[in-house]
Amino acid sequence: MEWIDTHAHLPHIAERGVSVEPFLDGTEIAVIDIGTLPDDLEPRLAMKNGRNGRIAFTAGLYPALSAEPQSDIDRAFKQFRETVLRHRSEICGIGEFGLDFYCEGYGSPEKQTALARKQIELAAELGLPVVIHSRSADEAIIRLFADYAPVHGVIHCFSSGPETAKTLLDYGFFLSFCGNLTYKNSRAIQEAARMVPLDRMVFETDSPYLAPVPVRGTVNTPANVEHVYRFFSELRGIPLPEIQKRAAENVRTLFGPIFDD
Ligand SMILES: [Zn+2]
Repeated sequence: MEWIDTHAHLPHIAERGVSVEPFLDGTEIAVIDIGTLPDDLEPRLAMKNGRNGRIAFTAGLYPALSAEPQSDIDRAFKQFRETVLRHRSEICGIGEFGLDFYCEGYGSPEKQTALARKQIELAAELGLPVVIHSRSADEAIIRLFADYAPVHGVIHCFSSGPETAKTLLDYGFFLSFCGNLTYKNSRAIQEAARMVPLDRMVFETDSPYLAPVPVRGTVNTPANVEHVYRFFSELRGIPLPEIQKRAAENVRTLFGPIFDD
């Protein structure tokens, strides 16, 4: 039975001095490597080139781009769109993108929303799922996607409570739980994990960030995704193999047969 990490940033792990070679060569862990920049897709595809690792890719524009002048955003989006179209068959989703009202200096809510809408529309045009970043922006995310429901996509690193979870599930979203599910003060996230239907959850590391207990504070890697699975399995009182099986089915429903051999 395999582990699937639906959200990792392999280049950021390597930048922190931790080897990603095992994942490129193929381990028991399948990984979706997530894009954030207009020009990061081709170097990431090149990193995988010819190797046996079970790696899939997305491409997206992180909300921080909204801080730039509008003409630069427009140019970046154009470049991004062209790259995505050129590599359509090599990507399984659009994202991560979304709204982040926590980090200062990411651009106004209006600019962030406009950039998100462009990517929602691109994903719809290409028939790809969206990978959504939402930080301190629950209400705005709920308002934004009310225009697009039913949605084919995932809320990455789901970090809110059961009420927000319910609305987003009603929209059609899958919820992806990451290392912060295992933190002591994550009561609300754990409540959401208790109620998420088993056909709507997936797991991730968001590595190199947010390492789960018991490796909290280290440079995270996809190898740690099993801690998130194990925590969820115990929380729900459902055997781990069942959780792995359901999560793998959900990844297939969300992203297609990306890890079928
Ligand atoms: Zn991420």
